[in-house]
Amino acid sequence: MPSALKFDLLAKCSVTKARAATLTLPHGPVPLPIFMPVATQASLKGLTPEQLEETNCRLCLNNTYHLGLKPGQAVLDAIGGAHKLQSWPHNILTDSGGFQMVSLLKLAKVTEEGVRFLSPHDGSPMLLTPEHSISLQNSIGSDIIMQLDDVIAATSPDFARMEEAMLRSVRWLDRCIAAHRKPETQNLFCIIQGGLDLGLRRRCCEEMVARDTPGIAIGGLSGGEAKEAYCRVVDTCTGLLPEKKPRYVMGVGYPEDLVVSVALGADMFDCVWPTRTARFGNAVTSSGTLNLRHASYATDFRPIEDGCTCACCRPQGDGGLGITRAYIHHVASKETAGAHLLTMHNVHYQLNLMRGIREAVVEDRFPGFIRGFFAKLYLEKSKYPTWAVGALKGVGVDLMED
Ligand SMILES: [Zn+2]
Repeated sequence: MPSALKFDLLAKCSVTKARAATLTLPHGPVPLPIFMPVATQASLKGLTPEQLEETNCRLCLNNTYHLGLKPGQAVLDAIGGAHKLQSWPHNILTDSGGFQMVSLLKLAKVTEEGVRFLSPHDGSPMLLTPEHSISLQNSIGSDIIMQLDDVIAATSPDFARMEEAMLRSVRWLDRCIAAHRKPETQNLFCIIQGGLDLGLRRRCCEEMVARDTPGIAIGGLSGGEAKEAYCRVVDTCTGLLPEKKPRYVMGVGYPEDLVVSVALGADMFDCVWPTRTARFGNAVTSSGTLNLRHASYATDFRPIEDGCTCACCRPQGDGGLGITRAYIHHVASKETAGAHLLTMHNVHYQLNLMRGIREAVVEDRFPGFIRGFFAKLYLEKSKYPTWAVGALKGVGVDLMED
């Protein structure tokens, strides 16, 4: 099928399965691997488009379900899409809306036709079909659009239902491809399903890859499954996917998950966690997550993270705000400013981590980067999570070695 992207593979790690690439989308180039912040309602809670741009974010996520409800398709068509709506000159990825529907609406029911649900506004029965999801995403005008898939919890013990969901997702991909009106300007990604069953995942990879979409996502994960099982699925799928296409693992955002998933061959990630946790007073740093609401920070006059170049931590002399932990502690529970500042820092942290990973892959020193990352985060090897140690050993990096 037509493609509106260019994928330039720049480097491959000589030990792990990590890659560095440049993904050129209709609204400009995006360095891979990348973390994509989630701007649910066409706004990243706590950041203006200018502040988001300042973090060097060049691809963020919008939710089709939320935009379809409000402002709605007619307004999106009238204004000319989500880029114009939010004054965002860079790239946007939208989800299909299906996951939100199934996770937010208890009464959602999946049939072959689509996802049936009751409108949260007036309770009237509604139906999200693959065709409707694509039509909404065509109106949004996002650079990457996602197929509607049949998502069930990866931890479901019901193999028959899991197989049905995987096969239905393939059928729905065909309907999405047929319904897509703007393949020259919007890139449709398929979504590999199959739960934690590697046989189902392999069959799904084969079917989806044959449809030749511009990019490929691995879905249905990050739903509370064991991390070992998560890693096996990602590792298996990336082993079967074409080298010259972007690979997006949906719903992943903890720093250690990002580092391990890149080592397993994935390129793109999204998660609400870094921005959501900011609203609870949590700062993401290379030595772990700090809850700045804790009393011990009341007199801590250091920046959130020493040497951080985000607009919040950077000293005033360098054009930053020179914010201290003590200040955030002071405002965190009273003012939304605390959440804004932490959101700024957390998004910067995630993007900076991905930048560091990319540089390490390009310079072929990614295994050393991984060692340094875990040493700083956990201080002692005995505290390293066993799932991460196991997954990394599987791709040639033994963290326990001296
Ligand atoms: Zn910072």
